[in-house]
Amino acid sequence: MRGNVRSKIAAAVVPATPEAVIKAARLIRNGGLVAFPTETVYGLGSNASDDAAVLSLFTVKGRPFWNPLIVHVDSIDSATALVDLEERGSVLARENWPGPLTLVARRRSGCAISRLATAELETLAVRVPDHPVALSLLATLGCPIVAPSANLSGFTSPTTAAHVADSLAGAVDLILDGGSCRVGLESTVIDLSGPHATLLRPGGVTIEKIERLIGPLAPACSRTESVTRSPGMLHRHYAPSRPLRLNAHDVRPGEVLLGFGRVPGATLNLSQQADVEEAAANLFHMLRALDRRDVTVIAVSPVPSIGLGVAINDRLRRAAAGKDEPVG
Ligand code: AMP
Ligand code: MG
Repeated sequence: MRGNVRSKIAAAVVPATPEAVIKAARLIRNGGLVAFPTETVYGLGSNASDDAAVLSLFTVKGRPFWNPLIVHVDSIDSATALVDLEERGSVLARENWPGPLTLVARRRSGCAISRLATAELETLAVRVPDHPVALSLLATLGCPIVAPSANLSGFTSPTTAAHVADSLAGAVDLILDGGSCRVGLESTVIDLSGPHATLLRPGGVTIEKIERLIGPLAPACSRTESVTRSPGMLHRHYAPSRPLRLNAHDVRPGEVLLGFGRVPGATLNLSQQADVEEAAANLFHMLRALDRRDVTVIAVSPVPSIGLGVAINDRLRRAAAGKDEPVG
């Protein structure tokens, strides 16, 4: 039995060579699911216009249907064929794409993206990923790909092909190995569909950068508002199996410490130099590494909410939330 599982894992992960990318595009065209690297985290991709493929993606991840998917495209032109980015969106797209920024905008009439993929919303979340493998997959396929993170819903996002294999090998058609993800955190999500640009999720592009380009973002949504505007923002998410204790200044019996900066007693350190970009790139794989059977609690040093620190703290709060506890 074990041997079987191992051989499936070995068969599913392949280096992202040009030939493998062509094979991946063929699989997606035929309704398959392919995990591939992006600069943020590994995505699990399916043809964005194929209802049956999108359904199998939700099923494999165990993702609730009310949580819409991000549509990945290869260029600004491909994005504007699907949504009207208007003035603010065009500025943000020009300055940040390819890159870790997702824009939510009104879908154009006649847009062929699966309604299942977007939870029947009148808006669409779209981005151009900044990774050569993701871009060549999109160019080879020639149509948009929906791609949530390639992990079981609610758990820590994968930043290596091995992480994907840990939870999804055997359930997907192919895992393209393109090494570790550079940014290591999901994209920033900005909603441009209303009168005020709103931050729906902090991520790989800093709020400071966005506000420099289009002015102040509307304040974070209230819990009720965020249910309707972005259904996926609410729940405990990105969570390891062990509980987390945040803003820890000491290490208690049974705990391991995930440090930040020069703190004594850390089992792993997000960044000795207290560099938030380095910490973001390390966050998910270090949480996975500490999520061990012999550990009772993962204590985490305080991380300043500056630059990418805002997104790191958002993920840590969601990871630390109690099961079934909403995080508004
Ligand atoms: P994930 O795929 O888990 O990285 O999450 C994508 C996030 O984008 C989810 O939390 C969704 O709630 C959000 N999202 C996707 N599409 C839309 C949309 N049309 N409107 C608002 N939020 C969206
Ligand atoms: Mg995810």
